[in-house]
Amino acid sequence: MDKFGSIWRRWQGHFVIVGIALLILLVWRFGLRPSIVAVAEEGGVVGDTAVSTLTEPDATADTSDPLQFNGSDLPVVDDSSLVPAPNPLTFEGKTPEHDFVTHTVVRGETPNGIAQQYGIEPETILGGNPQLSEESSLLQVGTVLTILPVNGVLHNVQPGDTLESLSLQYGIPTEDIIAYGPNNLEFPYRLQPDTQILVPGAVRELFVWTPPDLSSVGGTSSEGGSVRPVIVGTGTFIYPVNSRNFTQYFWYGHPGIDIALPEGSAVYASDTGTVTFAGWNVYGYGNLIVINHGNGYETFYGHLSSFNVVPGQIVYQGNVIGGTGNTGNSSGPHIHFEIRINNNRDNPCWYIGC
Ligand SMILES: [Zn+2]
Repeated sequence: MDKFGSIWRRWQGHFVIVGIALLILLVWRFGLRPSIVAVAEEGGVVGDTAVSTLTEPDATADTSDPLQFNGSDLPVVDDSSLVPAPNPLTFEGKTPEHDFVTHTVVRGETPNGIAQQYGIEPETILGGNPQLSEESSLLQVGTVLTILPVNGVLHNVQPGDTLESLSLQYGIPTEDIIAYGPNNLEFPYRLQPDTQILVPGAVRELFVWTPPDLSSVGGTSSEGGSVRPVIVGTGTFIYPVNSRNFTQYFWYGHPGIDIALPEGSAVYASDTGTVTFAGWNVYGYGNLIVINHGNGYETFYGHLSSFNVVPGQIVYQGNVIGGTGNTGNSSGPHIHFEIRINNNRDNPCWYIGC
């Protein structure tokens, strides 16, 4: 007895460990695992059925041998240990989780005012709303704007986009894009198409359509390489329409002013010059007239319903050049009036007063 007692004393620790290990194995194999599978399958509710199918043989199974399971009842079928490990080549990280405030434009609001209200730059209104990046009747009453929480651009991820390509496109360090938490970017920083990445500090570039220059309408080249104008304007500008019903002013996202008035109203040449364009413009202006004033200035008249002039024609300040309309990217009869000086967009209000 003493000998058996000493053996027991020497090995009891091992027996206890082996016993616990067996217990853990049994609980893991037939206890916990089916519960976890059930939780995963039933959205948080532990299903009795999932457990019972694993512990009780199916009625159709051969019950003469309790170890003989019907093929579909094999416990290993639901064992997640057989699920292949995630393939690093198909790794998909978390998707961005943005939570943006929206703002519905009410009468009298300006982009600058809205931006100020949310503590962002006016450019960021454009950054959060790519649909505004072309000439349009944007910021009209009722327009729903996405307000970004920080200054930047909301980028729609296209196939092939990478963190590096975004960094190059917007001139913003990759670290800044990663550092913006809601982007949910984690190593290896793959961007997923159909998601949106906020690029902090970025400014959305505007596409600027350039009309034909004076050489296309009979201007002659001088020795300096510049084009000699057919006629030179007065350098002063008058209202292009008999209306002061402004629906949108000049800002980064809108390089002109919009004035509402009934369709078919007269449109006047704001200054003397040569018509360089009179026709359909695919970039949102609709029916458009452009007058080159020969002194670096050009004026644009958009969304027209009719033309009284053709390219190459000389017009004098106050001549009727066409009729107002609702063509192109427009949701109501209005004129879009733009003044450019040496191809740079300027605020027409500085010239004609608003
Ligand atoms: Zn406009």
